[in-house]
Amino acid sequence: MAIKKKLAKKMVKKPIKTAVKKSAAKTKVAAKKTIKKVASKKTAAKKVIQKPENTQKTLETSLIELIKITSAVLPDDVQKVILEALHREEKNTTAEYAMNIIKANIELAKKKSQPLCQDTGTVLFYIGHPAGFDQNKFTSLIHKAVVKSTELGFLRQNSVDSLTGENSGMNVGPGHPSIHYHQHNKKTVEVKLMLKGGGCENVGAQYSLPETRLDAGRDLNGVRKVILDAVHKAQGKGCGPGVLGICIGGDRGAGYNESKEQLLRRLDDTNEILELADLEKEIVETSNKLGIGPMGFGGKTTLLGCKIGVLNRLPASFFVSISYMCWAFRRQGIELGEKNQIKKWLY
Ligand code: SF4
Repeated sequence: MAIKKKLAKKMVKKPIKTAVKKSAAKTKVAAKKTIKKVASKKTAAKKVIQKPENTQKTLETSLIELIKITSAVLPDDVQKVILEALHREEKNTTAEYAMNIIKANIELAKKKSQPLCQDTGTVLFYIGHPAGFDQNKFTSLIHKAVVKSTELGFLRQNSVDSLTGENSGMNVGPGHPSIHYHQHNKKTVEVKLMLKGGGCENVGAQYSLPETRLDAGRDLNGVRKVILDAVHKAQGKGCGPGVLGICIGGDRGAGYNESKEQLLRRLDDTNEILELADLEKEIVETSNKLGIGPMGFGGKTTLLGCKIGVLNRLPASFFVSISYMCWAFRRQGIELGEKNQIKKWLY
């Protein structure tokens, strides 16, 4: 009887132990699964956290690539007019020789991926962006990209403190690079870059009409007279042949800004305002008859293009602002993709 009782006890205990063991094993598996889930959630979270850094890194890379290409390769529209000018010049003249040197310079810089000119010039950025864009963050990334590009030799160390003349060697300081933001209706971000040489910046000019010395009144004929006066005064200085960016109107500051933005237009476009389209054409044709020629050596090519914009003005003022761009017309642009990669080149 005692033996039967013992056996019965064992039979009752055994299934309970097995059940407990099984459920413990199940709990462990479940726990492991939960840990795995938590771990994979953590990894996913890490990935999400890393994403902005990655896209920032990509943006820095895209900006450096933009700077490198802008510095070394002239856009197609500019190359085209330079080649046309070369073919226009008479054979065995100093003008043809100068144009051939310019052509060789362009080809060499492109082949070696090296700066077209030792004069980096002012680094001008123009950013078109949708609403809700963080300009401060973008500015600090531009600064980083400019410093890195300078270290890599894509930009010469070219920006100095105006009072001490000290060169930080970074190309970054108050007002440099010069960054301009415009909100647009597109969903994408566009970054345009222009490197504007010091020599050509020096021959820029601003006129206040009427200008009695030139008998230039407050009309398009007056505008025409002062533009041609600026071309004549430059006499090829500022590394001609070049392109003019003009603004009629605005205040002094806005006028100069707009005249530079006109240089962002493709050279083969046509002004939407008929009178200005005619004036642009006439300025180039008349300038090229002045005989100033490339670098002022004489010849048929003094100007490669002229782009004119217009801003409202005060009744009391009539400014004509003229920005001159040398033959080393370095401008490019990119459209950024969703991850800040270069989606499209704009010129
Ligand atoms: S003006 Fe233009 S071509 Fe002349 S040195 Fe400066 S960047 Fe070079």
